[in-house]
Amino acid sequence: MFITTSKLHHLHMPKTEAYNWITENSYTKPEKVDHIQQALLERWPSLHIEECDDQIDRATLENIHTSEYLNYLMSRETVLQEGEDSILNDVPYIALDKEPIAEQAKRWYYCSDTYTSFTKYIRKVACSSYNAVHTAGKYVLRNWWAWYALTRPPGHHAMPGKASGYCYLANASIFTEYAVEQWKRPVILDIDFHHGNGAQTIFYDRSDVLTCSIHADPARKFPYFTWFEDEIGVWDGIGYNMNICLEAWADEQIYLHSLDILLERVQAYEADILIVCLWFDTYQWDPICDFDLSIGSYSKIAKKIKEIGLPTLYVQEGGYDMEDIWNCAVSFFEEILD
Ligand SMILES: [Zn+2]
Repeated sequence: MFITTSKLHHLHMPKTEAYNWITENSYTKPEKVDHIQQALLERWPSLHIEECDDQIDRATLENIHTSEYLNYLMSRETVLQEGEDSILNDVPYIALDKEPIAEQAKRWYYCSDTYTSFTKYIRKVACSSYNAVHTAGKYVLRNWWAWYALTRPPGHHAMPGKASGYCYLANASIFTEYAVEQWKRPVILDIDFHHGNGAQTIFYDRSDVLTCSIHADPARKFPYFTWFEDEIGVWDGIGYNMNICLEAWADEQIYLHSLDILLERVQAYEADILIVCLWFDTYQWDPICDFDLSIGSYSKIAKKIKEIGLPTLYVQEGGYDMEDIWNCAVSFFEEILD
């Protein structure tokens, strides 16, 4: 297995986020990627790591994202001051269906929550994150067994026209669309604690991409509102979206059983490439989540995914425990690399 990553993510260091009118330190930290990379290198010193820059074809991004949203994202570097942190601490008081003219109002239009901050260099950071996914994915398209895009920021909550849940570009979905263009039949399997609502939204009416997610019941956790088990797709997409929602303190046994159900569907789909939105926020000591998986659980999850036997792109998404996150990663990849 090999890794793609980018040091440019250090340019994105949001200071705060707001929840229920309480402002606290941001949970999205550069150390997450650094610690995982360091731990994997200590365990496998000859691991190949490829650094990626921010040079990515805008047309590839426009397959998923709206042009006006990309314009907003790309212009932050000239609009924001050095160190400025453009976070929402409130929500819009009117429904918006077109871009407002006032610069200070645009953040309501291009961001869906009070956790996701636009920072000055977010274009560089988001594009380098996607470039790491794209570079890794292209190797997987050539039938390399497994590549891990160890990226930050994550992407699975990003919508075509909005940032959301610390995500700016829908990394896994953008690459999935690219894979379809290469005549592939991809599956997105999202095993982050939170629902992969970006992918569901983007591919909800299509049968050429299967989207599957195990996540916390949105009745109690982000992204709230929808993303329940009865959401199975629309039009051509009926039967091509599958959600399994779990209650608080879901343990290893419950989780592995849920994974078996999704993997059975993946096998029936006869995919030729698997894109796994990888989590570590299902860990029992994650500070903002409430599942009960142990470090050892990740080997068992990896074993089941590996047994599917598909070339697999692993895309880093969430994970906020800074004490054990690298142990979770080592546990997972020990099984993949065996
Ligand atoms: Zn998450």
